[in-house]
Amino acid sequence: MSGPVTELDTPRGGEGSGQPRSPRMEISKGRRATVGDVPVQRILPRRIRRTVGAWCFADHMGPADLEARSGPGVGPHPHIGLQTVTWLLQGKVLHRDSLGSDQVIVPGELNLMTAGRGIAHAEQGTGRYVGPLEGLQLWVALPDADRNGRPGFEHHGDLPAVEIGGAVCTVLIGELGGAESPARRYGDLVGADLTLPAGQARLPLRSDFEYALIMLRGDVDVDGTEVQPGSLAYLGEGRTSLEMTATTGGRTMLLGGTPLSATPFMWWNFVARSPTEVEEAHRDWMERTDRFGPVLSDLERVDAPRPSWLPPAT
Ligand code: MN
Repeated sequence: MSGPVTELDTPRGGEGSGQPRSPRMEISKGRRATVGDVPVQRILPRRIRRTVGAWCFADHMGPADLEARSGPGVGPHPHIGLQTVTWLLQGKVLHRDSLGSDQVIVPGELNLMTAGRGIAHAEQGTGRYVGPLEGLQLWVALPDADRNGRPGFEHHGDLPAVEIGGAVCTVLIGELGGAESPARRYGDLVGADLTLPAGQARLPLRSDFEYALIMLRGDVDVDGTEVQPGSLAYLGEGRTSLEMTATTGGRTMLLGGTPLSATPFMWWNFVARSPTEVEEAHRDWMERTDRFGPVLSDLERVDAPRPSWLPPAT
């Protein structure tokens, strides 16, 4: 469930975001990819939409059927400069990291890993669970003041779940309609899982945030436009509320935050600001310096691909 970003997702580089600061409705379909053993829809980044606030990556994993010995099956690999937000809709996943964390996650609970200047983790099946697996892995780009800080890991099994404007909202991170998540955040952002009963729902939004919805289930009309599951609906800035109408019901992940002033430089599992920073992280991982510690996992360590802008190794 780690999500290596490739040039299929975005041209590499860190051009400014330069997006209009007004309400809008921009729908993009995910791209099919495979992470470990599991099919995913890469929802973010896309060429037309790099970031939503500090949210810089979103994979919708599965649904897939797991055997006892299968799972997302992503062996130890490094991250820098981001938080990973792991949220399951079905199934179980085991997280282990270089801080010694060993945590099974189930639907309704949150795994939040802060990479700071460097962490490594593995995401794998539990070895026992058999059944469907589906979830989201989201990344938050850390702000400059925190992106070289110490790594951390949090698990939250009791997030606020409240009814707001006709939707049942579980707030993963940030605050929505007065409900605030205990998850550690850096900067102003929100992520919330919304279950929509049949009928209309109306959410309060912040006009200084930009927002998007990852549609997960159902037949939902957002602001007059039908948004299909597997799509990202980018909503822009300047909204104080959002109306959604579900015919039979639906489920969607709301992402929002203060727009970034510059798009991060993303390569593979690294969120950086420059090619040089990525080259250093690549070297530290491949040379096994103490920047990224070891991870206890029976899966194979994942090699970092050589940055594409470097000449071939001799
Ligand atoms: Mn990962």
